[in-house]
Amino acid sequence: MTDPDCIFCKIVAGEIPSDRVYTGDRVIAFRDINPVAPVHILVVPVDHHPDVVALAEADDTLLHELVTVAGEIAKAEAGGQFRLVFNTGADAGQSVFHVHGHVIAGRMDHLPG
Ligand code: C5P
Repeated sequence: MTDPDCIFCKIVAGEIPSDRVYTGDRVIAFRDINPVAPVHILVVPVDHHPDVVALAEADDTLLHELVTVAGEIAKAEAGGQFRLVFNTGADAGQSVFHVHGHVIAGRMDHLPG
């Protein structure tokens, strides 16, 4: 499942560059280009799902993998102490409608989005 107009589908495909920290078969992760904290990494499924609720409904195994990868990254980057933020809906600050979890650690300037 990909959306030709989706910027994160293009990042997954390597058509738009990103600072990757993890590449798996079903999940990737890269550093946010506009970080709000010393560690700010986006965990993103390869498949296009618009938000975390849609992902939970469509593929709970993939949501589980996304959270597991977030924990592994946070362990490597920040000793496992982190925030995991899923902005859901434009009014809640979501600007990219391909689900992504913000892994945030260290002093946070403000919430993402
Ligand atoms: O939760 P929200 O949809 O607002 O988050 C989107 C995030 O994607 C932003 O934090 C933005 O900085 C990030 N982004 C990125 N690389 C891009 C486009 C957006 O890291 N090429």
